[in-house]
Amino acid sequence: MTEATLTRSVPDVLAPGRLFIGGEWQDAESGKTFEVIDPARAEVVTEVAEADAADIDRAVRAAREAFEGNWHKTTPRQRGRLLWKLAERLEERKDEIALVETLNNGKPLFESGIDVAMTIQTFEYYAGWATKIEGETIPVSVPFQFNYTLREPIGVVGAIVPWNFPLNLASWKVAPALAAGCTVVLKPATETPLTALLLADAAAEVGFPPGVLNVVPGQGRTAGEALVAHPGVDKIAFTGSTAVGQHIARVAVDTVKRVSLELGGKSPNIVFADADLPVAAKGALNGIFYGKGEVCAAGSRLLVEESAHEQLVGMVAEGADGMKVGDPLEKGTRIGAVVSEQQMETVLGYIRKGVEEGARVVAGGGRADIEPGYFVKPTVFDDVTSDMTIAREEIFGPVLATLTFDGVEEAIELANDSMYGLAAAVWTSDVKKAHYVASRLKAGTVWINTYNLYDPASPFGGYKESGYGRDLGRHALEGYTQVKSVWVNLR
Ligand code: NAD
Repeated sequence: MTEATLTRSVPDVLAPGRLFIGGEWQDAESGKTFEVIDPARAEVVTEVAEADAADIDRAVRAAREAFEGNWHKTTPRQRGRLLWKLAERLEERKDEIALVETLNNGKPLFESGIDVAMTIQTFEYYAGWATKIEGETIPVSVPFQFNYTLREPIGVVGAIVPWNFPLNLASWKVAPALAAGCTVVLKPATETPLTALLLADAAAEVGFPPGVLNVVPGQGRTAGEALVAHPGVDKIAFTGSTAVGQHIARVAVDTVKRVSLELGGKSPNIVFADADLPVAAKGALNGIFYGKGEVCAAGSRLLVEESAHEQLVGMVAEGADGMKVGDPLEKGTRIGAVVSEQQMETVLGYIRKGVEEGARVVAGGGRADIEPGYFVKPTVFDDVTSDMTIAREEIFGPVLATLTFDGVEEAIELANDSMYGLAAAVWTSDVKKAHYVASRLKAGTVWINTYNLYDPASPFGGYKESGYGRDLGRHALEGYTQVKSVWVNLR
């Protein structure tokens, strides 16, 4: 990206941002708008129309009309080609989109670039799937009957996503849903609506029919809840906190909607003494501090074998101290701004709680001295025990809790001692131990000698209270389809 393009302003289509419904940019029926904040400057970037129940209703009706109309009739090949074209358009606009993501979320520009690249890959991946959604022939035991299945799109999907990977997590829902033949109403997080609107803009540019993808920024309690309760929505695909996910599942039950929930985590990063310790230390730093720790799968619990404890914690603390915190647009910045003032206060509250409960700060430990944005120093706690708040609750910020174990069984027990089960990692040079531990961990993703790797082909989702259903891979695609069994009398 050239220096000239690095201005702190948004493209015209976002100034102000409007709702994208039925292929048109529209104001909210109430006329309300809300301010979008750049957390690195604590200043308003732009304003965006604020959807509430009436707008959600319009968007759902547009999505329904598109589903029953043109979109339903498109061939798999046409859907695949549109998804591929969208990927190509995002590639052409990637610098602009990455800049907007950073201005809105506060993450370093290189991370936003990775988000956009992953979004492009996700659309490419599901473009390929559009022509490969097949039914089966079933060998039933009833004489003279032929039975087969059709795998059909579920219908209108309400996608609700959080603020940590605003565009990328939207693509994890939108791409498989559209490939399957569904239509979508996407509600981005209140804090970060901008790149979802750019996605709508790019989709319109490449010729998606009106109503296939609608984007409706707004508050969770109004717009989000109206989407979940709407009888015209067939499935809610949600990523966010466990508390909101529980609430959504309760509301969705009234209309027997399908629901997939990708929720919070408190993922263990287990380092055995026989690991390559410098590599594991880097992995621990990446595991917790990538995305400012605002990552559902963040390795927020570092479990270290006793004999390697001192050496590893020393390396991790030194690494944390060496990370550049600051302007996310500046080269070399590793830790950008926390997404909002409220989230910064939450994170600082957890740091205070850790100290009060007897854990020891070995790096960071508070707000970074950079005003007026919302910056927290990468913080490492040692001497944490499993009963402490910072070992149990999701902080969703740059705060690492280090615990110590003795032997394989204690490591597994500690790792599984959580209501969450999103991800985990094992660092060891012993192949048998690595696979044994992976088989015993209650987590939807296990990394061995690595961390934070994702690919559109590999399913991602939770065990336990980290949710159900899967994003990515064939598994996600199936979640946007339903199966019809057809019987044919051959006599
Ligand atoms: P959140 O649950 O507060 O909000 C998520 C989305 O839900 C937002 O769009 C919000 O507006 C909406 N929402 C809020 N209340 C609602 C309601 N009553 N009805 C309908 N929608 C409502 O989460 P957040 O603070 O934006 O994001 C952080 C959380 O997301 C963390 O817990 C994190 O672990 C989780 N997360 C999970 C994954 C995953 O894949 N498992 C990925 C990223 C983030």
